Amino acid sequence: MFDIYGGPVFGMARQQFLQAADILEIPTDQRDRLLYPKRAIAVTCPIHRDDGSTVVYEGYRVQHHLSLGPAKGGVRFSPHVDIGEVAALSLWMSWKCALMNLPYGGAKGGVRVDPYSLSPKELEALSRRFMQELIPFVGPHVDVMAPDIGTNEQVMAWFMDTYSNDAGQTVTEIVTGKPVSCGGTVGRREATGRGVTHTIVRAAEEINLNLAQSTAVIQGFGNVGSVAANELHALGVKILAISDHTAAYHDPKGLNIPEIIDYVSKHGVLKGYSSECLTDPNTILTIKCDVLVPAAVERVITEEIANKIECRILAEAANGPTTLEADAVFAKRPEVFIIPDILCNSGGVTVSYFEWVQDLQQFFWEEEEIISRMKKIMDKGFYDTVKSAKELKVSNRMAATCAGLRRVNAAKQARGLFP
Ligand code: NAD
Repeated sequence: MFDIYGGPVFGMARQQFLQAADILEIPTDQRDRLLYPKRAIAVTCPIHRDDGSTVVYEGYRVQHHLSLGPAKGGVRFSPHVDIGEVAALSLWMSWKCALMNLPYGGAKGGVRVDPYSLSPKELEALSRRFMQELIPFVGPHVDVMAPDIGTNEQVMAWFMDTYSNDAGQTVTEIVTGKPVSCGGTVGRREATGRGVTHTIVRAAEEINLNLAQSTAVIQGFGNVGSVAANELHALGVKILAISDHTAAYHDPKGLNIPEIIDYVSKHGVLKGYSSECLTDPNTILTIKCDVLVPAAVERVITEEIANKIECRILAEAANGPTTLEADAVFAKRPEVFIIPDILCNSGGVTVSYFEWVQDLQQFFWEEEEIISRMKKIMDKGFYDTVKSAKELKVSNRMAATCAGLRRVNAAKQARGLFP
């Protein structure tokens, strides 16, 4: 069924769904309705390049369900995007929002493009054209987009401006993750990395790890990875190694994170920061450390790497970083405490929810209030997950997935099936 969602990433999300559905004893005839996306939209985005030529990019938006409210999820600009990957990410968004008790269904979008290959003018044209093509299918009560890999506050501002021009009025609540200057919320840009760090603090308490004397390794140094690095550094954690798609650095004495963040803010990427501590990016995930944070792309922790990993906490800042085969290895390695992605990186969508609520009411909160409310919501998700993992004797990932799926299923059952 639905061959269009082929590929390893959707296969992985589907298998996780089936495992959770078995645990929850969801009848077979109700499963496809819960698994497959409500709708998937494929769009063609032609733009003028700076050299006068025309180029076309393929884009997708997948809305997994709208049973609990508008669909919610990021848009990524990446050369690897395909509809199966976007669909898988929409499923994970569904369970994440439901786990956090947010009034949203899951969605995800993507454009198959290397954003680093575009000039600022071309990036603006592509962002605007993508939103323009999707205007008939989105809305503040239908589907609300946000940043993800390769997109940022500026792209969200262009999305919002394009939608608003079409509507004839400013509709700030159409996207989240916008600049504060045009309806964004304080604390959204930092929210995902800050939330990742908060779950690491809670996990460290669970396993009696003194974070101030611990070490960490972080893969990915974009929005999420750099903020998590900064927050961990501020807690006294020694950051041994970091990487992005251009370079990897390792220093057993600990890297100077504020200096590196300053470098990346000027140069965009890690490449060129230092020649002394350069290392092989392929070795980064297996460096011995207390906290390992994959904050880049899916499926980087394979069976082979799972066998070699030497960490106490695996904090899944990225979506879907751990393959099914790696999960099978971790089932036999209980010494590694896994904070599953849908819990670990949920600070982003939680503060996106606050942004949407503030935009709808045109009433804005202070950053302190944002942070404390985010932590409160994430704490509930964290403790519910850990408690239910112990009770059900399943992994933290399965416990979190079951909690999300249970809520989506309950809403669907209560609402019934139309017609
Ligand atoms: P980003 O584009 O800001 O950064 C991505 C980073 O990953 C960049 O530093 C890039 O160079 C690096 N990278 C890409 N491929 C790599 C590779 N093979 N090895 C090492 N590094 C690589 O994106 P982001 O917003 O930081 O997102 C990172 C992850 O977090 C993604 O999985 C995303 O889905 C997830 N996430 C993001 C948010 C958010 O609010 N931005 C929320 C939840 C989850």
